[in-house]
Amino acid sequence: MDTIARAPRQAAKVLPEHARTHNRALVLQNLFHQGAMSRADLSRATGLTRVTVSDLVAALIDDGLVVEGGVRAASGPGKPAVLVDIARGAHRIIGLDLSRADRFTGAVMTLDGEILARDESPVPVGADASLAAATALAQRLVALADAPVLGIGVGSPGIVDDHGVVLVAPNLEWTAVALQDELATATDLPVLVANDADAAVLAEYTLGDAAADVLLVRVGRGVGSGLLMSGRPIRGSHFAAGEIGHVTVGTDGGPRCACGKTGCLEAWLAVPQLTARLEAGDAPRDDVLRDAGERLGIALAPLVGVLDLGEIVLSGPADLLAGTLLDTAAHTVRTRSLARFHDSVRIGLSRHGDDIVLRGAAVMVLSARLGVS
Ligand SMILES: [Zn+2]
Repeated sequence: MDTIARAPRQAAKVLPEHARTHNRALVLQNLFHQGAMSRADLSRATGLTRVTVSDLVAALIDDGLVVEGGVRAASGPGKPAVLVDIARGAHRIIGLDLSRADRFTGAVMTLDGEILARDESPVPVGADASLAAATALAQRLVALADAPVLGIGVGSPGIVDDHGVVLVAPNLEWTAVALQDELATATDLPVLVANDADAAVLAEYTLGDAAADVLLVRVGRGVGSGLLMSGRPIRGSHFAAGEIGHVTVGTDGGPRCACGKTGCLEAWLAVPQLTARLEAGDAPRDDVLRDAGERLGIALAPLVGVLDLGEIVLSGPADLLAGTLLDTAAHTVRTRSLARFHDSVRIGLSRHGDDIVLRGAAVMVLSARLGVS
């Protein structure tokens, strides 16, 4: 009989300190999304006892993460309820977006992802120079923060492992750059680094109303995507989940891609390639956009089928994506998937605009530091 090569999965033992971390996150998660609540409300919302909630809230107040403020008049006899909330004004989050072609951008944000201050830097040529520029930008933003910084979130181009090492980012000439450790050493703050599309999808979910099974497709200089299933990021076997840009779409050839193949999704859809075809004027504008939208839909339909996604969000220039391209992509997905279950997948444009990666970087910090998602 064959032996089973796969090691058995370990059942997680719930230790008391894990339970406490979990319960603390549960309290913060409810406050983050519901706003100010009484301890009794929190007990009802979390299913934790009043005693446990009071104990956790007291510890969070000591840590400066929760504040008491305001009362709500009692509906019956008894004392009015004191409300508690996350200390939204007491901390800042720094976000960096290293994915743009022309510049690194960064912001000082509130815990809700509201941008209070911005800075940016040109992208110098060469691996060492671009790393130095990103580090200097992070340090300048920390200096701009007018309250204690909870952490720094970074959306980087390329493939990023779960220790914040950028395994490869060709545009920055980075190979195995330990960006998370470098920035943590330079700023003495907690730092989280992820691929830019993986950051962006978090903004859509935590700071928007995206479904829990959501794919975000970023259309820019390249094409990439970030995926959440049940609200959890999916990274894949090589930290390269979502790298759909060089998937060949169709068997009929197509435009030549920078990677050497023909007919890659990126060759149909990336902004420089699409803009060049529109400017060349060989075909009417609507035909070019319809063609790109159809190719996108062909690439997305199997993902909808395999993953039963609730939502697909496109992020990129609205003048190219909105209208014909989006409508054609949505139509193509529907005609190529199972109508009864997959017709209801929502397909639309992100409302976060150019700040989506910065806001997603803020969510990375919220998630790592407070357990909020
Ligand atoms: Zn390619």
